[in-house]
Order: sequence, then C-alpha cells, then structure tokens
Amino acid sequence: MRNAIGVDIGGGSIRASLFAESGKELDSTLSPTPEHLDNESFLKILKETICPLTKDAMGIGVGSPGPLDNERGIMIASANMQGLKNLPIKDELKKEFSLPVWYENDANCAALGEAYFGFYKDTKSQLIITLGTGVGGGFVDRGILYSGYLGNGIEIGHTTSVIGGALCGCGVHGCVESYFSTRGFLGRYAEKANKDLDNAETFFQLVKEKDPIATEILSFGTLALAHAIRNAVHLLNPEVVVFVGGITKSYDLFGKNLESEIRSTIFPVLNDMLKIGVGGSLSGALGAASLVFSKEKL
Ligand SMILES: [Zn+2]
Repeated sequence: MRNAIGVDIGGGSIRASLFAESGKELDSTLSPTPEHLDNESFLKILKETICPLTKDAMGIGVGSPGPLDNERGIMIASANMQGLKNLPIKDELKKEFSLPVWYENDANCAALGEAYFGFYKDTKSQLIITLGTGVGGGFVDRGILYSGYLGNGIEIGHTTSVIGGALCGCGVHGCVESYFSTRGFLGRYAEKANKDLDNAETFFQLVKEKDPIATEILSFGTLALAHAIRNAVHLLNPEVVVFVGGITKSYDLFGKNLESEIRSTIFPVLNDMLKIGVGGSLSGALGAASLVFSKEKL
C-alpha cells in the first residue's frame, strides 16, 4: 500500500486527506480550529482529524504557515492561533500513530505538490512562486525539496526589490511582497489614492477599468517581481518557474509583462532553456502528502 496522508493546517481549520501515489484523493476529514486554542487542545483536534485515515497509510506529511523548525518538527508560532507556541507536531504524531512524519511550511508543501502532480511535473527542476496575500516560494530539484537549514528557505517575498522602499509586514522596507501581493497592492493603493480596497479582485477590477493608479501600481509591482525572479533564476537555475496562488487568476493582466521582463534580463543561456508558466490549483493537503512520496524516494 503506497498511500500517504497530507495534513494542511490553515487559518481556521485542519484538513487531512489520504492520497494514492497517483495523487488521487481516497478519503478526507476536516476540523475547524477555534482561534483560542492552547497546544494541548490543538494537538487533540489534530490527532482526531488524522486518526480515521491512518489504517492504510505509509506516512504523514504536515504543512502549516511558518515560522517552524522542520528538523525538530516544531511549529514555533502561529499568526492565526496566538495560543500555540513551540508545538511539537512531529513527535506527537509519531508517538500517536507509529508512522513516519514530515513537517514543512505550506509554501514548500505547495511547491512539492506542484512539482509532483502539477502541469510541469515532467520537468526536472522547478521554482514555484506562490502569489497571494504575500509572496512565497519553493524550489524542487529532481524531486527533492530544497528547504534550507531548518526549513525556512526560498522566502522570495522577503527579498529586497526597492532599497528603502515601502514598509513590509516583516518590518523591513522594500520587500517584493510590498509591491506584488494582495497585501502590497492594497497597501500601495491606500497610500497613493487614499482609499482602502477590500481585496485583490477589487484591485484587478480597477486595473481592467484602466484606473491610472491601480495600473501604475501593478506595472511597478510586476517589474519588482520580475527582478526578484531574475535573482532567483540566477541563484538556482531552475528548468521552469511556475506561478501558483490566488493572484494567478488575473495572470492575463500582468503575465506577459512579467515574462518579458524576466526573459530580457536573465542570461541568454538560461533564457533558451527556461520555461515560465502558471500551475494548477492543487490542494495544500496534496502538497503535504507529497512530503511522504518524496522522502520515500530517498
Ligand atoms: Zn518583508
């Protein structure tokens, strides 16, 4: 039996699914997670959510937002659940179910899922960029996730695009995320138009209506993102750059400019081989389960 459990710990819920090695979902469970949970009550819900799926599984993969320590398998803190601190996810699940357990941040899991089951699954080396509330990234080379020392690598959203630029959520000025993400678009729009927008859809609707401020913000943001990706391509030399996440729904509004700026600024020798495109919308649980399939390969 080569089935794996993927667990996606998100804002407000835990989703666990059992997958066949083909990526087919065989069974799943979902539990809401109230905001005010402490470690003990959270772990109880986590175990209860996973338990019904364990009979036919060869391992458990877990993904959650960071910061985390993937080696010790600890969620250091959670932005959505303030009561959680140094949560020993890996040890607790291993003890409870006697199965191997892997734990990575959700952007890395999404990258791995995309590399194993997405449109570009037949390429050898993938840089996956998540465009949503923020900007995340993951790098998968020959089926193996590069997650850095302790699992916090490829934080492409927090690489600098504009020295001394707009203030980012991380506390530093000029991150690419301050220029190209839902948070960035809304923040820049509020600054320049003195008006708060509700969400990314409203922002992109303004772009479609040729609102000059929204258009300018998107066009500068696209340049900022393109150069962050240029840097990453020169550092990592991926075969393909794959964009995933909510903002890719509006790819027709910026994709052409983004690709042409990347292509016109990277080394020609890389350009000849590099593929750039939009990925699928795979579930976070499938990404987490890919941790098991990937580790089985080693
Ligand atoms: Zn930042």
